[in-house]
Amino acid sequence: MRIDEIKEISIDNYDGPENERGVDFSIMNGISTCPFYGIIRYIHNKTFSVVERNLALECGDLCHKCFACYRALSIYFRGVNENKQTLKDIGANNVIKIFQEVVNNELDFEYCKEIFTQLLKQCEEVDTMLSKYTLFSDFIIDNSGYYDDPEDKKRTIANIKDSLLHYLSNFLSLVEDEPVWIEDENDINSKVGIEIPFNLNVKIKFIANDEEFTKVIHFIGKLDGVHVRIKDNNSLIIHENKTASRLDDSWLGQWYKSHQITGYCLAGYYFTKQECLQARVLGMQIPAPKTSGYAFRMERVDREQFNFNDWARWVLTVNEFIEDYKDCPEKAVMNTHACCRYYKQCSFVPLCCSNVEERKRILEEEMITDEWNPLESD
Ligand code: SF4
Repeated sequence: MRIDEIKEISIDNYDGPENERGVDFSIMNGISTCPFYGIIRYIHNKTFSVVERNLALECGDLCHKCFACYRALSIYFRGVNENKQTLKDIGANNVIKIFQEVVNNELDFEYCKEIFTQLLKQCEEVDTMLSKYTLFSDFIIDNSGYYDDPEDKKRTIANIKDSLLHYLSNFLSLVEDEPVWIEDENDINSKVGIEIPFNLNVKIKFIANDEEFTKVIHFIGKLDGVHVRIKDNNSLIIHENKTASRLDDSWLGQWYKSHQITGYCLAGYYFTKQECLQARVLGMQIPAPKTSGYAFRMERVDREQFNFNDWARWVLTVNEFIEDYKDCPEKAVMNTHACCRYYKQCSFVPLCCSNVEERKRILEEEMITDEWNPLESD
């Protein structure tokens, strides 16, 4: 369907059935790249059995816990500098929550609080803020269960820790000008802009074939950070963390129009109830380059109404693919330009090279169900 005009985009909390997962950016991007792959993998949750670790995902998840911890610590240390107990409490509680998630969900709050207190004592023995923050991320990494894989020489613990030093040396000055958003600094239970899962209904009114339609999309995801720009009248800015193996100019260029960033600005607006038209993407390379290149790069990007309209067109188009093929995934469109994305053969090649009847059999008999919930991972 040709969409002639986006009339209105409005957002509300998701209020549909509890067992409906919704779609996040990764799912929509997967379907947009190859509908056949995306619908089978993300709507039917089917894959061929995987025995290998997904180190990219594990490593990314671990780094995101460290980034979240740095955000929480920045609030705590702001509280120390400004002699404000509520800020210290907000920061401390958020660090402790991250410890609980990373180390072991069964560890209770008081136990993790004790770890936090011990790490603060160790902070007294080191001089720089970089060293103090590193004590906390080292604790997370060393207790996360992550271990080196002999097959992957890049995503080693040593390389992750080294890259985090580069990240921190940039983040610490950035966060002074762009502190983490806190709804009410006097309320220790205030909403805080760190790792915010969202579960929304996005209602899009549009004109197609001279008729007006309304479509509601169940949109989910997680924001890494919501910050404020002190030098720009405290305007809101989304922070999106990325780990990458290369931070060249094309890496940077992809964010100017990224639908992921546009969707996150909408979610940021709903979470804070404030206008949110800016984002900053913070890239960390693992391993950090030894000679030329960048270990850390960041880019600030802006969004206007036309970006949200373009995002809505894309979301509607992807969701039309889902509607059209969810009950007959074996007939979904195959975008063969994606068969070697990221320079790796797509694991669905044997399925796609079979006839339609054989595909149905493979789907039922040879593939396993592996549900992935974006709200539980990055
Ligand atoms: S093999 Fe190619 S066409 Fe088939 S699902 Fe993968 S990307 Fe799509």
